[in-house]
Amino acid sequence: MLTKRSYIDRIHPEVELLREGSEWLRSGELVAFPTETVYGLGASALDALACEKIFWVKGRPQDNPLIVHVSNRAMANKLVERWTPEAELCVQHFWPGPLTLVLPKTALVPDVVTAGLANVAVRMPSHPVALGLIEETGLPIAAPSANLSGKPSPTSGSHVWRDMKGKIPLILDAGACQVGVESTVLDVTGGVPTILRPGGISKEMLEEILGEVRMNTLTDNRVPKAPGMKYRHYAPQGDMIVMVGLQERVIQRMGQEIQKGHARLKKVGVLCTLESAPFLHSRLPDLLFVLGSKHRSEEVASNLFEGLRLCDERGVDIILAEGIEEGGLGAAIMNRLQKASGHRIEYI
Ligand code: AMP
Ligand code: MG
Repeated sequence: MLTKRSYIDRIHPEVELLREGSEWLRSGELVAFPTETVYGLGASALDALACEKIFWVKGRPQDNPLIVHVSNRAMANKLVERWTPEAELCVQHFWPGPLTLVLPKTALVPDVVTAGLANVAVRMPSHPVALGLIEETGLPIAAPSANLSGKPSPTSGSHVWRDMKGKIPLILDAGACQVGVESTVLDVTGGVPTILRPGGISKEMLEEILGEVRMNTLTDNRVPKAPGMKYRHYAPQGDMIVMVGLQERVIQRMGQEIQKGHARLKKVGVLCTLESAPFLHSRLPDLLFVLGSKHRSEEVASNLFEGLRLCDERGVDIILAEGIEEGGLGAAIMNRLQKASGHRIEYI
């Protein structure tokens, strides 16, 4: 299939391009588009066949449900059977934005979208291109991240191009995504709201509005509530280790691993904070990628997937990543680092 990559204005998207995207979506095809979190691979959420294509193109496991994106509340109402007071509060405070709400679904939502679950995950994105495309289509759009399953999520049009070229008819490219990690997935079906996946809206931000909020970890449930969380995700090709601890000790350990890697003729890449970079630079890794300042987790979040993808592009064999503190966006960042490394975390 011939893939067209159209550059679209991120603030004032060109109407002709939105229309072209909406025509593909209404005819049952897939379109990749930017959101404020990462790029999405969209299909009409009411078209079961189109949604099946998403799984096929990504190589996504069938039991991993899709998030449905809406551009207004009336559209969300058609998908959700019952809103809880907590869900209403979330809509008021965090929509449009990087928060996905899990709520009981209506019969309108095809089973393939929810992977047979009784709940649907709904989000209203804030990116003007995403909102414009959904509005122009007039339909809710199911969209997971526009990467091949298991690979780091795409945070730029170039990332999508590399993964989706030849597989879908259209990529709307608006440059880099702002947030850079996926949305927070929050179960608000009743009882204490529970974070099923940490993301762009932190636990602390939710607690300010909702009071008590729980973090669901995989070990809490034999059957994970957000099925996607059980898979190895975001994984670069190289072997990855995340190192957490006092800065000097992390730097020292990384220095040793760089030497060990080089002795085995391996290419060693380092993903680290701005604060550690000068010290690691002198240890001569083959690639040094600065994620951002440890005091600005938004910066680290927005660069994370770019760093992981760069390691692949440069053929890095061993990736050493510096962990960061878990507060705020730090929880989402550490969650992605854990998954990317296949849970290889060294506490030093
Ligand atoms: P992705 O679209 O790849 O960013 O992943 C979406 C995440 O939301 C995965 O972790 C899914 O398991 C989770 N999710 C989507 N739909 C539901 C649902 N109906 N109930 C619970 N979790 C969901
Ligand atoms: Mg994904």
